[in-house]
Amino acid sequence: MAGKSVVSTKILPKVKFRVAPLDDYFSELHRFLNPDANHYDWSGGVLKKYPGLKDKLQSVTDVKEREKIEQGFFEEVEREELPKMEIAREEFQKAWDKIGDDLMRALSEILEIDWGENDRKITATLTLNPIMPRFPEQRMFRVFYGADAEHAIDTVIHESLHFLYFEKWSLIFPEIKADKTGKDNPAWKLSEIVTGVIPNDPRIQFIFKHEFHTYREFQNTNIDGKPLVSHIQRLYDEREDFADFLRKAWEFVKLHEKEIP
Ligand SMILES: [Zn+2]
Repeated sequence: MAGKSVVSTKILPKVKFRVAPLDDYFSELHRFLNPDANHYDWSGGVLKKYPGLKDKLQSVTDVKEREKIEQGFFEEVEREELPKMEIAREEFQKAWDKIGDDLMRALSEILEIDWGENDRKITATLTLNPIMPRFPEQRMFRVFYGADAEHAIDTVIHESLHFLYFEKWSLIFPEIKADKTGKDNPAWKLSEIVTGVIPNDPRIQFIFKHEFHTYREFQNTNIDGKPLVSHIQRLYDEREDFADFLRKAWEFVKLHEKEIP
């Protein structure tokens, strides 16, 4: 079972929510709306939130033209929604501050690694984008302003887990880059699959009762007649320590690389 709790928790990251101006992240929106072949197509997730944009882009194939339409559309949305973004920011901050220290301590215990000097401040920027990229080097990630507080906390845990996970990963597999996103990187896929396993650990659930899932691409994958996530869950439940879990999960992912989308 879980390793001994020998982690000292001198540093606990403080999460600060802020509202990002559209200029900061428009390129991300544009990228998600016009994905390349090496990334999953999540444009539907954006267009579902903004059916008006879907209508406008319907028959437009030229990427430059699409970009102009997207830009104009989101400038308008930003003008209207800015007050709501500010309200959401305050609400998320308040909800997080009640349990944030406990959650960060739990993550450190679970991954059996201390938070480092560069984890002192983590920034959660609210945007209009329902798809929420993260930037591990800057300890920053995006949060959708239209989420409720529970899902905002889900996002903070998911992304903070990534930051710490990549540190732990690099100690065990220094030669394999796990944070490089894309369909051609199985180590990155594993880093996402575990977000449907690790935060369901009782040490998180005790503080924040919530069901965590990974991407539906992985959630819906079966291997040997059983959900991919349940295989990884079993390895987690039977681990000797966290490093042991990582090694075995990585072996499993490599073995079944072709079956994982
Ligand atoms: Zn993720």
